[in-house]
Amino acid sequence: MKNLLIMGAPGAGKGTQASLIKNEYQIAHISTGDMFREAMSNQTPVGLEAKKYIDNGLLVPDTITVKLVEERLQKDDCKNGFLLDGFPRNISQAEALDKMLASSGIKLSGVINIQTDDLVLIDRIVGRRTCPVCKEGYHITSKKPKVENVCDKCGATLVQRADDNVETVSNRLKVYHEQTAPVLDYYKKQGLVIDVDGMQDINDVFKEITKKLGDNK
Ligand code: ADP
Ligand code: ADP
Ligand code: ZN
Repeated sequence: MKNLLIMGAPGAGKGTQASLIKNEYQIAHISTGDMFREAMSNQTPVGLEAKKYIDNGLLVPDTITVKLVEERLQKDDCKNGFLLDGFPRNISQAEALDKMLASSGIKLSGVINIQTDDLVLIDRIVGRRTCPVCKEGYHITSKKPKVENVCDKCGATLVQRADDNVETVSNRLKVYHEQTAPVLDYYKKQGLVIDVDGMQDINDVFKEITKKLGDNK
């Protein structure tokens, strides 16, 4: 059983790899970004509050985010393993996660770190398209759908995320380097980090991940 984290800069390929890993290892994929987008589209109190930060490329406050993750990890589908994508994003979230897991007697199996050059991230983010129905991710050049702007899996029209614009990207990168990158050192000290070269093609990144994770499902 695997209890994993996937980390990397915005646009590094976390969501793309998470969806492949989830199928391969049959574990729950928990994306805080997806959860916030769902809450925003349903205009829930959490969604309305989160929108103020997300639109500006800033982190949603820890009190809101930690509670959301804590509730999600208690659901039954996490009992066979999980993959957290986009959380923790700062040291205080990492400490909160450690407490949550310790109190349930759960140990992390590894932290997948997708390494990229900042130079490719803007293109990946601005060219990103997403299926609003099944959440499958696409890219206008590196992962084109068979029919332009239509989801291969479910036929829905693809959308562009509101925060995927050049203006918020620089803030999101700054937040990543200042607040999220230190989380990697936190896990390095625990010997959990699995570095992966995120500059390869999507399938090659996935091959490197499965090779390093091993067959043990
Ligand atoms: P993240 O979840 O880290 O923000 P995504 O998985 O959504 O990143 O990927 C960002 C964009 O880049 C998407 O449009 C995706 O299709 C594309 N992408 C992901 N991995 C790669 C890769 N290895 N090479 C080229 N494009 C990629
Ligand atoms: P990216 O593809 O840029 O990595 P995500 O989909 O993971 O983005 O997150 C989108 C936005 O949602 C972030 O820029 C941030 O505002 C908010 N968010 C997601 N996860 C967290 C978190 N763990 N803590 C605070 N804010 C978060
Ligand atoms: Zn779809």
